Amino acid sequence: MERYDIAIIGTGPAGLSAAVTAKIRNKTVLLLGSRDLSPKVVKAHAIQNYLGLPNITGAELGAAFQASLDSVGVAVTEDKITAAYNMGDYYALQGADAFYEASTLILATGMIPGKLLPGEEALLGRGVSYCATCDAALYRGKDVAVIGYSAKEEHEAAFLSEIAANVAYFPMYKEIENLPDSVKIITDRPKEITQADGRRQVVTGEGQYAYDGVFILRDSISPGQLVPGLELDGSHVKVDRTMATNLPGCFACGDVVGLPYQYIKSAGEGNVAALSAVQYLDMKKHSP
Ligand SMILES: Cc1cc2nc3c(=O)[nH]c(=O)nc-3n(C[C@H](O)[C@H](O)[C@H](O)COP(=O)(O)OP(=O)(O)OC[C@H]3O[C@@H](n4cnc5c(N)ncnc54)[C@H](O)[C@@H]3O)c2cc1C
Repeated sequence: MERYDIAIIGTGPAGLSAAVTAKIRNKTVLLLGSRDLSPKVVKAHAIQNYLGLPNITGAELGAAFQASLDSVGVAVTEDKITAAYNMGDYYALQGADAFYEASTLILATGMIPGKLLPGEEALLGRGVSYCATCDAALYRGKDVAVIGYSAKEEHEAAFLSEIAANVAYFPMYKEIENLPDSVKIITDRPKEITQADGRRQVVTGEGQYAYDGVFILRDSISPGQLVPGLELDGSHVKVDRTMATNLPGCFACGDVVGLPYQYIKSAGEGNVAALSAVQYLDMKKHSP
């Protein structure tokens, strides 16, 4: 497996800026996220405070970011990372589609809207999963629930329905786009995940539903869940002025490290995080 110099999780301004700088500094870069970049960029109606690009739309800013990526030859690897482990000398990343390795890691995942469901964190890995591709096989012939936060997650529920005996889908958004008939849609809003009689219970305002496994699928995962051992400051990742986290070789930038939530602040921090990762790699190369 190829071991990249720098893996970057997130394709908003922070991650893109980090990728451009790391590539210019001659490092091998794995940029993980979406080819549509960030919805917080491309869906913005009007942006007035991005230096050098006055009065543009989010779509125009997204196109300018893409042009920067193209100019240095960085392509986005479209995958959602469900866990990143500090292996001592490198980071092992588990994606929905593949595994990856990199000597350093830059977290640029933005902020998750909303809170975790009560019980979600405690039951993670014990019947609650964030990754259908990784864990579907554990539920062959069993009953599972999928709590999906956007229509993008429907294909994961469809995939699970090929393996599990029964799949129930709780949409956390308005319009279902494309689910097979084999998936049962339940429109009650989940409020909590509990455990009883060896099964996970999805508790809603209307009642309680029991399953062998519950998949909670969002665009992003809280940073503490994503990288075990990462030190947080409230809901943000704790970093110093070089954007270094408490884990050696792991840096973070953008909204995920704190307020204010702004494009240009995120891009600036992405630049700093990349230069710090480059310095870390060079230091490691020259240390005995
Ligand atoms: C409607 C709207 C308008 C705004 N207008 C302005 C404005 O005019 N001016 C301004 O300065 N700011 C504005 N902002 C704020 C700005 O959008 C954010 O501060 C900025 O996008 C943060 O950049 P980021 O790179 O940190 O994160 P994001 O832009 O949130 O990007 C994070 C990316 O990481 C991806 N990701 C997350 N987790 C994973 C994972 N596990 N695996 C793979 N990929 C992952 C996400 O899908 C996303 O694409 C606006 C925000 C919104 C919502």
